[in-house]
Amino acid sequence: MKLIDTISCLDGYDPDALRVDRARAAILSVLAPIKEMESVPVRMGLGRVLAQEIVPQINVPAHDNTAMDGYAVRFSDLRDNAESRLEELGTALAGRPFKGTVGAGQCVRVMTGAVMPEGTDTVVIQEVVKTDGKHLVIPPGQKAKQNVRYAGEDLKVGVPVLEPGAWLRPAELGLIASLGIAEIKVRRKLRVAFFSTGDELASIGAKLKAGEVYDSNRYTLYGMLARLGVTIEDLGVVRDDRRALQKAFLLASKNDVVITTGGVSVGEADFVKQLMSELGEVLFWKIAMRPGRPMAFGRVGGAFLFGLPGNPVAVMVTFYQFVRDALLYLSGRTDDFAIPLLKAAAAEKMRKVPGRTEYQRGVLYREGGEWRVRSTRQQGSGVLRSMAEANCFIVLEHERGAVAAGEPVQVQLFEGLA
Ligand code: AMP
Ligand code: MG
Repeated sequence: MKLIDTISCLDGYDPDALRVDRARAAILSVLAPIKEMESVPVRMGLGRVLAQEIVPQINVPAHDNTAMDGYAVRFSDLRDNAESRLEELGTALAGRPFKGTVGAGQCVRVMTGAVMPEGTDTVVIQEVVKTDGKHLVIPPGQKAKQNVRYAGEDLKVGVPVLEPGAWLRPAELGLIASLGIAEIKVRRKLRVAFFSTGDELASIGAKLKAGEVYDSNRYTLYGMLARLGVTIEDLGVVRDDRRALQKAFLLASKNDVVITTGGVSVGEADFVKQLMSELGEVLFWKIAMRPGRPMAFGRVGGAFLFGLPGNPVAVMVTFYQFVRDALLYLSGRTDDFAIPLLKAAAAEKMRKVPGRTEYQRGVLYREGGEWRVRSTRQQGSGVLRSMAEANCFIVLEHERGAVAAGEPVQVQLFEGLA
């Protein structure tokens, strides 16, 4: 089925004035997560997407055990309003259970993590216990079953704890390890290739000639992709030249995703766009956003293509607003991975016209306990410094007009993006 048939029937699809939310929906409507998986040792699973269900074969903890250092007692031995005197039988440590049964009037000294001795049900912390030389003296006021951790209270045999699609963070690695599992199935890594287009681009290390700029997009892209944990193929700078581009696309399309920068804006040599459409099915969009208005999306060979604008800030904005989520979805993640929108007070007035979504670069900071956000000064889509100085996007919604100082605005933090 052609992409355009799926996408054109989406509500509000207008390639020449596409709202950000519609563009996002259009992209997601045609993507399908990769299926292949591989087995890896637990540690290698960090940041990967789980491809199996994790069902405990043991309880965690495996036994009832004490949560505190103290004495394991039978609650029925304790008196309501008076001290109780008990005989101490021995000691149980974590990993060294007490062998034997605790009878009426008896108790066992226990250290945190020790298995509850047979016959006991309650732990009295050592700090409140005294001795009269012969017996332990327990003050009144203890509660039945206090300070005990029960078998299976963390993980229960047969009750699934992780589903396919889970994103493996440190906590999940530990959880899996707590079940004694050494190997897990994860989705294979997504393979992403990228290259820059433009006759004016020089690679770092080369001397700049008149009219040239260093290619920075491949470095921001590298950074953003590396943080997402995908496999990266950097195909370098490709001249605005038919054969060179053709070759690059052919190589790149052996991956799951191809990202290009440059060559999609109106003034560009037409053959870049033309070539994209010849090699696959590519839709050219003018998105109602700033920065990042022109963008291409489609397929070349077996790969999905994101043709990002050339301007360095537009590359980062379109990557975070469209490509990131697409890559996470393709990777098989099933959690809600959308970048959260948080509220902060505008520190100053901000210019904005209704009819497009703006992603201003902002600095979120604290003042007197309140979170405020100001924009970095120069907001041109070529001013990469505005990204480096910022710690968040200020997301000014499609319908919104100018913002007055003190008004709440939405921000997306840069850190924590992954
Ligand atoms: P384009 O979208 O190709 O018209 O490029 C728009 C602007 O972004 C031009 O000023 C380009 O010089 C600049 N640009 C394009 N690609 C890169 C790149 N890889 N690194 C830095 N600047 C770029
Ligand atoms: Mg160009």
